[in-house]
Amino acid sequence: CEDPSFWKDHNVQVIIRMRPLSNNEISVQGNNKCVRQESCQTISWTGPPEARFTFDLVADENVSQENLFKVAGVPMVDNCMEGYNSCMFAYGQTGSGKTHTMLGDIEGGTRRHSVNCGMTPRIFEHLFSRIQKEKEVRRDEKLKFTCKCSFLEIYNEQILDLLDPSSSNLQIREDSKKGVYVENLKEMEVTNARDVIQLLVQGAANRKVAATNMNRASSRSHSVFTCIIESQWDSQGVTHFRFARLNLVDLAGSERQKSSGAEGERLKEATNINKSLSTLGLVIMNLVGISNGKSHHVPYRDSKLTFLLQDSLGGNSKTIIIANISPSICCSLETLSTLKFAQRAKFI
Ligand code: ADP
Ligand code: MG
Repeated sequence: CEDPSFWKDHNVQVIIRMRPLSNNEISVQGNNKCVRQESCQTISWTGPPEARFTFDLVADENVSQENLFKVAGVPMVDNCMEGYNSCMFAYGQTGSGKTHTMLGDIEGGTRRHSVNCGMTPRIFEHLFSRIQKEKEVRRDEKLKFTCKCSFLEIYNEQILDLLDPSSSNLQIREDSKKGVYVENLKEMEVTNARDVIQLLVQGAANRKVAATNMNRASSRSHSVFTCIIESQWDSQGVTHFRFARLNLVDLAGSERQKSSGAEGERLKEATNINKSLSTLGLVIMNLVGISNGKSHHVPYRDSKLTFLLQDSLGGNSKTIIIANISPSICCSLETLSTLKFAQRAKFI
């Protein structure tokens, strides 16, 4: 299960991550589970009726943060070092482990300090160590790297800068040189994993404040942490440039938003959350269709999330979706719905 030969034939990889039962779930339902892992790529939903699903990887509750990073994070860094855009999404209902997967325990620092440290800090620790090695090996070519990070939140189809919360409703622009970008979004240069963790902590705090001020749960917004990696080197008297974008996305909870009886802001919010998630599903579906030789229109512009990530989805970009589930019978229907979403992303 360690090496599901990532990226060999598909640009979209789908991983299921099952978290352990929580004490809470056990006290309500005992050890009853709605899923059963069959192999490192197959999982069954126990029904009724029983349904089987196959993915690139099914990671059960025993898969550590470090092992998940080795399987999903390392290839993502390799990919960026080669100049390809990459995207990682955490999908799943609220409480299924998205933030644990993407950030985990960030206050504890990097990998050496905490086993619960999540994907993002580990990715950057690895990225900077690769950059360091590469610079040493290619000293003669005067290899240089610049990494710039931004951190934003999409709530109700509006963009908020998590590194500069005084700004609001930022707009997405498109430019033949820069590609798709967010106007006036703060970009911070980073030179090591500690810099990145500082931005993650700061952004996470601002996300909490924004949610409190607007009287809504932060689980209703999507957060996007982006790093632009630029490199330049000299070879035979010519300077070469390379550019890659890495997006790490903690999606809004995928649970059905209760729109019945909701009015005004709440109704708009319910519709918009579903819109970003369903558009993401459609975009990925169409991309898988294209890679199978079927031509499709890809509806990138139908939501802020997909418009923003347009350059990082499709083409030569690599995408990993980590679909998080709770094994508990209490979450049965949401778990089935997550497995179905993940399956569509994999096969259609
Ligand atoms: P989400 O972001 O999807 O709402 P969280 O990441 O906040 O969910 O996870 C909910 C709770 O479950 C947290 O207390 C988290 O620490 C715990 N948890 C999630 N995934 C795991 C895991 N793989 N191992 C241990 N604890 C987990
Ligand atoms: Mg979360």
